[in-house]
Amino acid sequence: MADEFPFEISPMFEGERVRKDGMFVELGGPKSLGLEVVRAAEMADVVDDQVKIVGPDLKELEEGKTYPWAMIFNIAGELVEPDLESVVERRVHDFINYCQGIMHLNQRYDVWMRMSKDTAAKMDSFEPFGRAVMMLFKTELPFIEKMQVTFYTDEAEVQKQIDEAMGIFKARDARTKDLHDEDVDIFYGCTLCQSFAPTNVCVVSPDRVSLCGAINWFDGRAAAKVDPEGPQFEIAKGDLIDAASGEYAGINEVAKKLSAGEYDRIKIHSFFEYPHTSCGCFEVVGFYIPEVDGIGWVSREYQGMSPNGIGFSTMAGQTGGGKQVVGFLGIGVNYFYSPKFIQADGGWNRVVWLPAMLKEKIDETIPDDIKDKIATENDASDIESLKAFLVAKEHPVVANWAADEEEEEEEEEEEAVAATPMMMPSAGFQMPAMPMVSGGSGGGIKLTFKNAKISIEKMIISEKKEKK
Ligand code: SF4
Repeated sequence: MADEFPFEISPMFEGERVRKDGMFVELGGPKSLGLEVVRAAEMADVVDDQVKIVGPDLKELEEGKTYPWAMIFNIAGELVEPDLESVVERRVHDFINYCQGIMHLNQRYDVWMRMSKDTAAKMDSFEPFGRAVMMLFKTELPFIEKMQVTFYTDEAEVQKQIDEAMGIFKARDARTKDLHDEDVDIFYGCTLCQSFAPTNVCVVSPDRVSLCGAINWFDGRAAAKVDPEGPQFEIAKGDLIDAASGEYAGINEVAKKLSAGEYDRIKIHSFFEYPHTSCGCFEVVGFYIPEVDGIGWVSREYQGMSPNGIGFSTMAGQTGGGKQVVGFLGIGVNYFYSPKFIQADGGWNRVVWLPAMLKEKIDETIPDDIKDKIATENDASDIESLKAFLVAKEHPVVANWAADEEEEEEEEEEEAVAATPMMMPSAGFQMPAMPMVSGGSGGGIKLTFKNAKISIEKMIISEKKEKK
């Protein structure tokens, strides 16, 4: 099948990176506009295998430059329904990355692609690339009987497509608004990201969209129905163990199975205790800020630093890989709209910082009484300015600081022992890294922690008396 195409096609190219010095062009990404959408259509409205290009084609692009980019795929078939659009759309990432020399990152309106010089030298047009991706779709998802694609490189046209697509994404995301976890017996799981995050356990419930943002409960249901052996599957939620944190016996069973025993508890509405695993394609990362006992969130498109001096990509590196990292959490943007948003840990009252662009984007879902108390980079760029902002605005976390201090003082009086001055959430905190601690010479101590999960209630350090 690869003979038909000027480049090789194989899952082995999935992890291939196209670096800047080896790229012919960059399409979309942080410096431009990027979009992908899949739309269900009637059989009669789709011209099978058709590739249309609106704007300059590949041979008209200048080497080393970045261009706006949109891909609109139309699919048709007897079993194709609008509920399948998101699930099919999620596979665009995989299938494009199967093409040698073509790198694809992100999804929806964040798409970022690069084509290598070698691959670009083998063709004059995006046409074979479009046909290759559609061939992969129809081979892997046989319910797609007909498919066509339009690629846009003209900036005004790309912008127009993005404007239209935002309405489509919003309508898709709104479908779960009136459906809640307690209304259904079945949740859905997805294993797509296990290819690079083997212990990732992705759970999609009515009140929790997938962390990539692409799959909500309805999408999971449609996918599991049309392809029962596929990557999306049913999870019988089982007995409710704890409503506030969203712990269910059925999820715990699946967690154990999918993570090969690595995790046996997942609480889908908890930030600190047994949080949902984070694969790497989350749209937003939440991070605990111990100095203020609050939670900040940073989105993929935000290029700046958060108040703890870390940007999205560094934070994503610490959070991803399919791990359950207490103190960090990857989510889909739509989870901010959930009435159960991290409800086990204070919900919105625990949120202290958001990038301005994200705050504006989700403005309608932030409760009015907390909105002005959440800082952005325009209010606080480091911990000290964040603290001052929260105090001035009387953010609810500030009341906890006094309570925490009182508690600490009482404990100090009672125990009269030296304790580690570490502020951590009550559920324990996984330290991303611990420095080596060494004592003096002779009878000293040396502790080395590497990727350790440590929960310390009390640490007593006493001097060992030398025998005379
Ligand atoms: S983040 Fe979850 S739902 Fe999205 S593709 Fe990955 S495994 Fe599937």
